[in-house]
Amino acid sequence: MDLGLKDKVVIVTGAASGIGKAITEAYAAEGAKLALADINLTGLTKLQKALKGTEVYVEQVDITDAKACKKFVNNVAKKFGKIDILVNNAGTAKMGDMETFPEATFRAHAELMMYAPVRLTNLCIPHFKKNGWGSVVNTASVFGKQPGGLISYDSIKAADIMITKDYSNYCAPFNVNVNAVCPGPVDTPLWHAKGQLGDQLAGATGMAKADAIDWFAKANIPMGRYAKPEEIASAVLFLSSEPAHYITGVAINVDGGMVKSFI
Ligand code: NAD
Repeated sequence: MDLGLKDKVVIVTGAASGIGKAITEAYAAEGAKLALADINLTGLTKLQKALKGTEVYVEQVDITDAKACKKFVNNVAKKFGKIDILVNNAGTAKMGDMETFPEATFRAHAELMMYAPVRLTNLCIPHFKKNGWGSVVNTASVFGKQPGGLISYDSIKAADIMITKDYSNYCAPFNVNVNAVCPGPVDTPLWHAKGQLGDQLAGATGMAKADAIDWFAKANIPMGRYAKPEEIASAVLFLSSEPAHYITGVAINVDGGMVKSFI
């Protein structure tokens, strides 16, 4: 199938690592032009170098900063002359006790995973309208569909699914589809990096980190393993492709069967 992604201009947030990096590599393989935002400039530059032969613009952007987002989107439009696809992917997660979860952390997570995607979508809409075509894919989570016990993360990812639905209705008249992917646990630094979910799970269960990570998959995922980042990227590319443009307002699970509901 020709995905029709050649020469499309694609913004990916959180592109320096994990799922965002895999999404970027997959678009590059389809001949798209990439505009990458992340707080991790070293990671972005390394990725840019690895993607020789692909037009890649990188900018260190903290997407919780409204001014920085505006500057970034303007720079992308100036550099490429258009914007076709926005992938709102940057995110983080933190386990914590329900009763004492710090309000400041909750607010910071909402800034990163809820307000930033809304802000970036709004900044891109005028460019989509000018094109007469556009596509947005939001990285939500299975924990937006069923509880994972991470109070900030679960609730914000659920909000992302509703934001996706609302924008899909709003954007349809000007030929823009808006969808979400809902990954189950994915083998990325979000689990393995120091202080991240693997360490947090080890602390909560008393297991060694590697055992805790392995146990979680076996206990919760029917397929018994974490997703590879590329498996999430495939769904993102399809949803933003020409052949899938009539699909809008959906939140597709890519989860090895983890979500228990059938809708
Ligand atoms: P990751 O930690 O590997 O990558 C996240 C990226 O976001 C990093 O490069 C980081 O620097 C960037 N980032 C963080 N804060 C930022 C900010 N303020 N501005 C710009 N960039 C920022 O994590 P990942 O696993 O690749 O997760 C990517 C997305 O997928 C997240 O939204 C996450 O919630 C979602 N997700 C992940 C999993 C999983 O198990 N890994 C499962 C479901 C959903």
